[in-house]
Amino acid sequence: MDLSLPAADLAWKERAKVFAETVLFPHELDLEMNGSLPRATKDALRAAVVAHGFNGVNHAREAGGQGCTQLQQTLINEELGKATGALWAVVWHPAVPLKHGTPEQIRDYLTPSCLGRRRACVAVTEPDAGSDTGLIRTSATRRGERYVIDGEKWFVTSGDEADYVIVHALVDGDRALPTLFLVDRDAPGLTVKREPKFTHTYVFGHRELLFQGVEVTADRVLGGVGQGLELTKDWFVEARLQIAANCLGAAIRAFELANDWASERVAFGVPIRRHQAIEFMLADMAVEIMAAKSMIYRVAWEVDQNIDRKVAHARASVIKLHASEMAGRVLDKAVQIFGGRGYMRENPVERLNRDVRVDRIWEGTSEIQRVIIGGQLGKRGPDLFTGWYRAPGT
Ligand SMILES: Cc1cc2nc3c(=O)[nH]c(=O)nc-3n(C[C@H](O)[C@H](O)[C@H](O)COP(=O)(O)OP(=O)(O)OC[C@H]3O[C@@H](n4cnc5c(N)ncnc54)[C@H](O)[C@@H]3O)c2cc1C
Repeated sequence: MDLSLPAADLAWKERAKVFAETVLFPHELDLEMNGSLPRATKDALRAAVVAHGFNGVNHAREAGGQGCTQLQQTLINEELGKATGALWAVVWHPAVPLKHGTPEQIRDYLTPSCLGRRRACVAVTEPDAGSDTGLIRTSATRRGERYVIDGEKWFVTSGDEADYVIVHALVDGDRALPTLFLVDRDAPGLTVKREPKFTHTYVFGHRELLFQGVEVTADRVLGGVGQGLELTKDWFVEARLQIAANCLGAAIRAFELANDWASERVAFGVPIRRHQAIEFMLADMAVEIMAAKSMIYRVAWEVDQNIDRKVAHARASVIKLHASEMAGRVLDKAVQIFGGRGYMRENPVERLNRDVRVDRIWEGTSEIQRVIIGGQLGKRGPDLFTGWYRAPGT
């Protein structure tokens, strides 16, 4: 059993580390202290993503992306996840369902998105529909060759940066026809209702959008009428792996900083790491990180081996749940080891502690991940989680 990372994968990880440390970290304090970055800085960051070759890592080269494997993406996201203020989000990942676009949609939306000329945001959640997507009410009413979209979407991440929205709506209000639509930001009838503030400082906004009689032509249906939930489910595997990798990176950065501080800070005549209470916290953090990393790399690798879609879905839930909760525990200890300094916003540990909280909420809450895992356990049995990868034919 060879667990070593191939040279090409290590090279992606190293490049991402350099990118995070030299391009993203320098903007952390400006973002935290001012709540946002100037437009010129955001534009420069977008250009830097392209210059460093991190644009469209999750899409095929033919579509304008970098064609990275899932494991390579995980290694990249781990390094980017070390940046505070969700600066990792400046490295956009064009939405996975765009792969299922028509040739024209790939030309007009996916490829320009991979190249950094366009950017999407995704609008699924509504005031009355979060975990329970069955409660979605946004409708797309057929009018001849057109659809008219009406509804309200919440928490639309990067809505301020995107020039088009991937909207989840019910065709003719029919729950059996959940469908994704591509809507350009300047479409008449699409307005911003609010841009609330959140616990974390985030490089972009999370907008509330109103769709009032927004007309789109039939060629803006993405992936077929009625395919909305299926396309979103496929995407969850990648999105949950990305969150898990970001959480791992955040935990590693906080652990390294706390470990250094524990050697430097003296209390009662010794470096605080010589107090067993602190040493044991560091030990627990090391164990948590090692376990999470083993799981995340394994599942990313398995996805690259094309394991069964439902197995991938269940295991992506396992690592999203574990990594996000692990990051919460590790960050909490890191803050404690820093004492009062762990509560200062100028300390990356303080910022990461706020940043990782949302990872237990978005892309399926921890409770929803447990619902998925428990459901698959009932259907497929424990081997799904206790077993190990088997090569085809063995
Ligand atoms: C910062 C941020 C950014 C976001 N970005 C986006 C975005 O870009 N696009 C988008 O569409 N959405 C986005 N979301 C929305 C996010 O996906 C939802 O917040 C999430 O799915 C939870 O939905 P909810 O907030 O409505 O909570 P609810 O679904 O109302 O859940 C409330 C509580 O009930 C629990 N619960 C619900 N059902 C069950 C159950 N069956 N069993 C046990 N417990 C249950 C939940 O776990 C939670 O604890 C974002 C959210 C945040 C906070």
